[in-house]
Amino acid sequence: TLAGKTAVITGSNSGIGLGVARELAKAGANIVLNSYTDHKQDHALAEEIATNFNVDAKYVAADMSKADDCRRLIEEAGRCDILVNNAGIQHVAPIQDFPPEKWDAIIAVNLSSAFHTTAAAVEGMRANGWGRIVNIASAHGLTASPYKSAYVAAKHGIVGLSKTVALETARDPITCNAVCPGYVLTPLVEAQIPDTMKEYNMSREDVIKNVMLERQPSKEFATTEELGGTVVFLCSDAANQITGTTISVDGGWTAL
Ligand code: NAD
Repeated sequence: TLAGKTAVITGSNSGIGLGVARELAKAGANIVLNSYTDHKQDHALAEEIATNFNVDAKYVAADMSKADDCRRLIEEAGRCDILVNNAGIQHVAPIQDFPPEKWDAIIAVNLSSAFHTTAAAVEGMRANGWGRIVNIASAHGLTASPYKSAYVAAKHGIVGLSKTVALETARDPITCNAVCPGYVLTPLVEAQIPDTMKEYNMSREDVIKNVMLERQPSKEFATTEELGGTVVFLCSDAANQITGTTISVDGGWTAL
């Protein structure tokens, strides 16, 4: 059980982040949700988690593209035993047409944010004598696809960052790992469908089966619950010696 632990999940008002937050709450952890918006419904998600799972939960608005906001998130959390760096954005374009501001934004949100939150959280974990850092990378942290230069670069980067942090915390009761999902049907993936339909001149159905799940041998999307379960496992005692590595949740993608 994770009772008494506080988990901070970046980018957790939808998709995988929200699924991970719910599974951690189910395991007893108190939850800090985050995104860059500050809507009523964001705070309502935290209330729903608190009520459903009988834990403390709050929502902290902070923009993971900004260094100061990343560090403020950890401060406002009050405590951070489990840090899940999940916030992520995507843009798909051939490199010669890739807008430089999209490159900068993707590197900031998908990679640099994890540097800042980890830097802000690790001393508290040391002082508390326990910590878990889980970075949500991607199958694109281990392999590449065309037209996703910034995303693939950021995800390979976060795998490298995970290994470095694991070495720096190896003598502490802290672990740092990267989870590498294949395709999970979330708003981020949904948003890629129109562009990919245009890119390949295909129907929605064909894009899903023949492009997205083309490399996912199971031919099934992974679920946010499965991703949450993987994070809960990494927070368990069974995972005490699992550090500096990647866990793929990709239906066999990276076995190909
Ligand atoms: P999503 O769009 O549902 O979630 C992304 C989350 O990040 C949202 O909560 C969004 O509000 C938040 N976010 C975006 N920009 C932010 C910012 N500047 N500051 C704070 N929060 C911000 O997408 P998702 O699929 O759930 O993606 C979550 C993570 O999983 C991402 O890192 C993504 O790269 C990774 N991932 C997703 C898939 C997939 O198939 N869905 C596969 C591999 C990896």
